Amino acid sequence: MKCIVLGCGGSNGVPEVDCACYVCASGDHLNKRSRSSIYIETQSGIRVLVDTSPDLHMQALRHGFSKIDAVIYTHAHYDHIGGIGDLKKLVHDDPSITVRSAAIASSANHDTVANHDINAHAMGGLSTKSKACNWYQSHYFQKQSIKDVPAFMDSTTESIVTACFPFAFRHSSDGLYKPLLRSVVFAGPFSFADLEITPFWQRHGKSFSYGFRFGNLAYSTDVNGFTDESITTLQGVKVWIIDCTRYFHAPTHLSLEPMLNAVAKVNPERVILTHMGHEIEYHEFKKILPLRIEPGYDGMVILC
Ligand SMILES: [Zn+2]
Ligand SMILES: [Zn+2]
Ligand SMILES: [Zn+2]
Repeated sequence: MKCIVLGCGGSNGVPEVDCACYVCASGDHLNKRSRSSIYIETQSGIRVLVDTSPDLHMQALRHGFSKIDAVIYTHAHYDHIGGIGDLKKLVHDDPSITVRSAAIASSANHDTVANHDINAHAMGGLSTKSKACNWYQSHYFQKQSIKDVPAFMDSTTESIVTACFPFAFRHSSDGLYKPLLRSVVFAGPFSFADLEITPFWQRHGKSFSYGFRFGNLAYSTDVNGFTDESITTLQGVKVWIIDCTRYFHAPTHLSLEPMLNAVAKVNPERVILTHMGHEIEYHEFKKILPLRIEPGYDGMVILC
């Protein structure tokens, strides 16, 4: 299984807007963090996103993604769901190239597309161009959304995400736009193709989120406490990607000391830190961490 850390930044990202601190001003790519999300690719080639960060467009371009097969949501905070609209290109088959060719072919008797426009107006009726446009509209919208892409989430997250982004889950009222996702509520372990997923509850301030175990890998963002049951679920995991937003007290996230305490209870072989804010300079932080614990960085690839 391959995992890519698409983003490992806190809710503001790094650099933060309107901040001139030395981490935000750093030119080092290891100090540039988009909003937190991971991508998983299984042995059989199934491609899964955990969260759709507001930086999804840039993350997908950076890694050359074409399509994804499923989404899993940790919770409904904006920095984990805000990029849902960017799924359009990742879940729909896009017939626009075929459409463009057809439009050009239909204008073969005219010099340019501009001439085509003039002809359309001059004729005042159904020109070749308007036929092409009609063809485009009918084929484009009908051909969208051939894939059925599930979005797995708990019931609380589902109620918020579907209310905030109804277009992602329903046909538009004019019938032109099809849904991006089909919501699937989990209430325990589930599987998708060859990916086995075990969700576990995480305290997140006065709210909660879900962590996920995928075989040897576990992902725990936006957390400041674990139940005994969650710690039990994590036993035996080899790689743990875990929240460490700052050095000291973070009311809704883990900071250094509570992160180390959680790691001691699970004892994984390798720990990668995520959701880091601008207090954390990559190289300085790495120096003070135990050997098996390292800060993540955008684009980090983990094979497990
Ligand atoms: Zn977050
Ligand atoms: Zn800063
Ligand atoms: Zn959160």
